[in-house]
Amino acid sequence: MRTTEGRLAARCRYLRVTLGSRPEVGLVNRCEHMVREGMECVGPFLDDHETDCGLWERKDGGPGEA
Ligand code: SF4
Repeated sequence: MRTTEGRLAARCRYLRVTLGSRPEVGLVNRCEHMVREGMECVGPFLDDHETDCGLWERKDGGPGEA
């Protein structure tokens, strides 16, 4: 079964969550797409808010994916 959920930034195959350069920064949402590599993901990271990023692609194998 494949879900019909929307284009959530948190489910993007190019998203990598890493530690920031300083302890006070905490976690940083980095994009590994070749166009934006190393930049922060445009997000948003809110429930039920889809990203309008044109580079988004679904991450395979997540919960609910077949
Ligand atoms: S910027 Fe776009 S392509 Fe990059 S991780 Fe975020 S949603 Fe995915």
